[in-house]
Amino acid sequence: MTEASEQQISSLNNSRMEFAHFSVKRNGTLTPMQRDIAAEELATARSSAQKNTLHELPNNTQGLNMQRIQASLDLFDAPQKPMRFLESSDFTAALEQSGHRSSEPSGIYIESLETTLIKRDLALEALNGIALTESLAVHEGAHSTHVKTPLRLIHSKYGIWRHPEISIHPSPRVHGMSPQDLLTPYLGNMFEEGYAELERGIFVQTHNLTEQFTHNAVNFDQIADSPLPLHYMYRIPSSSESDNTPSLTFVPGVIGATIFEILIKQNEQLLPTLRKSRHDIEGVRQTAELIDTIMPGLYAELQPADKEKMTTILVEVLKEFK
Ligand SMILES: [Zn+2]
Repeated sequence: MTEASEQQISSLNNSRMEFAHFSVKRNGTLTPMQRDIAAEELATARSSAQKNTLHELPNNTQGLNMQRIQASLDLFDAPQKPMRFLESSDFTAALEQSGHRSSEPSGIYIESLETTLIKRDLALEALNGIALTESLAVHEGAHSTHVKTPLRLIHSKYGIWRHPEISIHPSPRVHGMSPQDLLTPYLGNMFEEGYAELERGIFVQTHNLTEQFTHNAVNFDQIADSPLPLHYMYRIPSSSESDNTPSLTFVPGVIGATIFEILIKQNEQLLPTLRKSRHDIEGVRQTAELIDTIMPGLYAELQPADKEKMTTILVEVLKEFK
């Protein structure tokens, strides 16, 4: 052994690095990824300090039906994370404290703090009713159900890889991240945003809120030659000066949610399996198998899928099952 390689080995041993993550290529090859223990410890210490500051902000639950939000969170069958409702200025302050610059308009699940922050948008509540905030809380709560610890298990057919420190998106996305996915801007459209929005849609339907959120609105977008389900829509103030009729809008993830809905109609076991997959590796495998049973080869198509690709998949799924 040369002196140089001995030095390399000894510096590797002293660097507190270990190979704990693997990337998986489509051909099945595993590539070890280095894990930086010191950085992880630092991140843990930082997040506990941030959590303390965050919990000093007022939690405004006034007027919200917390019981029915809780009833939805209970359905997720996952460890529950604290949820805080913040008015706009507090929400912005909390985001800054946690080092996040942007989020979905409705809120954010901050993985490092294991806390869900919901923004109370009073203008949107005035238009749609307070129940809109409740539904958006269900969406954000659904994000909180993924595992915090990195998945390190490999499935021979469906490679799974997660890295705790990569924060291209506020929270890492489950189901089949791979290194090249990090360059994909819409990472997580299907199994993260699609899943969260599916749960919000279930909440809206359970409490018959569709009409309340959508009546007397215009500009209903059509995607994939087929209107997206109305229960994902809600009203925003008009942007037109001449006509103040509210417009309909929807959050990202609605295409994925619609695909899930169609698949669940084919096999209702998919919903509990999908919920399990958020925090259980066995659930990820079962979800993959179930989706491929419903429509062979579809699971691989769904990850990672950008918005355009998801629209194409929605058209295919609609053709197959409608
Ligand atoms: Zn979301």
